[in-house]
Amino acid sequence: MACDRIGLVDELYLERPNFIRDIRSPVSETETPTARDDESAESDESAEPAPRIRPRAEHPISRSRIDPDALKVLYRLHGAGMKAYLVGGSVRDLLLGRVPKDFDIGTDAAPQAVRRLFRNCRLIGRRFRLAHILFADGKVVEVATFRRRPEPTAGAGEEAGSEAELLQLSENTFGTPREDAFRRDFTINGLFYDISDYSVIDHVGGLEDLEAGLIRTIGDPDVRFREDPVRMMRAVEFASRLGFAITPDAYEAILRHRREIVKSAPPRVTEELAQALRGGHALPTLLLMREVGLLDALLPELASVLRQIDPDHSRGTGHLFWALLEVLDAERRRGRKYEDALLFSLLFVPIVRARVRDAVPEGEPDPGMLSVIIEDVVSPLAFRMSLPRATTDRIKQALSIVGKLSHRPDARVATRRVAFREAFPMALELFELTAMATGIGQELVRDWRALQARIERGRASGEIPTLPPPPPRKRRRRGPRKPRAS
Ligand code: ATP
Ligand code: MG
Repeated sequence: MACDRIGLVDELYLERPNFIRDIRSPVSETETPTARDDESAESDESAEPAPRIRPRAEHPISRSRIDPDALKVLYRLHGAGMKAYLVGGSVRDLLLGRVPKDFDIGTDAAPQAVRRLFRNCRLIGRRFRLAHILFADGKVVEVATFRRRPEPTAGAGEEAGSEAELLQLSENTFGTPREDAFRRDFTINGLFYDISDYSVIDHVGGLEDLEAGLIRTIGDPDVRFREDPVRMMRAVEFASRLGFAITPDAYEAILRHRREIVKSAPPRVTEELAQALRGGHALPTLLLMREVGLLDALLPELASVLRQIDPDHSRGTGHLFWALLEVLDAERRRGRKYEDALLFSLLFVPIVRARVRDAVPEGEPDPGMLSVIIEDVVSPLAFRMSLPRATTDRIKQALSIVGKLSHRPDARVATRRVAFREAFPMALELFELTAMATGIGQELVRDWRALQARIERGRASGEIPTLPPPPPRKRRRRGPRKPRAS
């Protein structure tokens, strides 16, 4: 069973080279402006090339699919004589018939003007002010004034094109809608939906790429990835999420710049990883990250363990890790939710297992040794990833519990006590995913779940939950019994 899964993984992996397709240029010269056109247009807005407009009758975006609060914001801006566009991922997802995660809005109104229009508005951000319109149950609709790519500002002694210059450090400045489209990362993320006539506006060739299933950077991929290396992660994540191909020029640029990912702010990189783990496309994302070398750059400890054969999956090139991601994705697609600590713990499992195997080739490590290994593996990596302290602690606790779940819960009191520990529910989920990935231990999962349910019932009724008595121990005789004194 597990081997079938691994077979699928290998198939996926081997298919990847086809991932790069040879594609003709997205749109004809007259329709699609080039980055150079855009630069020259900055000085004279009226000289901007016209975008491609797709009228309402020719695209599938219906207002019934747009969040009603986002619609209210769009209409109020429009009513005040401002431009009001749905922007970014929501337009992409609506065109693909997917449910957008959030509905961001672009406008030509300055942030202060947006604030005057909405009572429930808060301005945030230091470098670039964004308006957050707050609605009931904590919903936030983000409104951003159109802006353009920051000008590279070379400091003293820095040469044009140097890293510091390319990495985005300078202030953002307001821009035209077209400039706003061009500052975005990929063509499919640069589309606008205009509330004034319900059309889709395409300055960057995004419609064609959406139809062709392509992740293409807006502008030169070498420049765009050096400017912000997180875009490489985003390319991989969108390609995996949408089943799209990365264009050859962008793919090759990732190979050239992959090591620069470590220059990015760790929380941003970790958030991209989390998106993949939460989104039901962890397996293709991590496989593609491995293929392009981003995994080696970011998590070399994990990448190196994944190069070894896993004894639990010694046939083929399989590794338990890939099987775990596959079952995780399947569970997420079925709507099951997991906390972030559980998701990130999957990245640590293979490393801890390899270290335990090295230390104790047969049998189990003693608890002291296990906690040293867990500490050694988790702490430095979690620190580098900027994981919150509470998440890191939970990961460590769950990893120290999960091995104990391979014993029946009624075997010994000490073993059953783990069920009272805070990270037990998470450790049990991890154990369950492992059982699903290996096909081993399903009945143990049921036993532990039964114990967990008993404990929860006890907690709900306010009783202190008690453990069933341990099975009677057999006394060991230590030599011949003395004759009883009469
Ligand atoms: P998701 O469905 O994950 O939310 P998204 O495309 O909406 O996908 P966000 O991170 O919400 O992604 O960003 C919103 C938009 O902002 C993107 O669609 C893109 O146009 C732009 N954007 C985000 N990150 C970058 C970046 N690093 N460089 C340039 N543009 C970006
Ligand atoms: Mg979004």
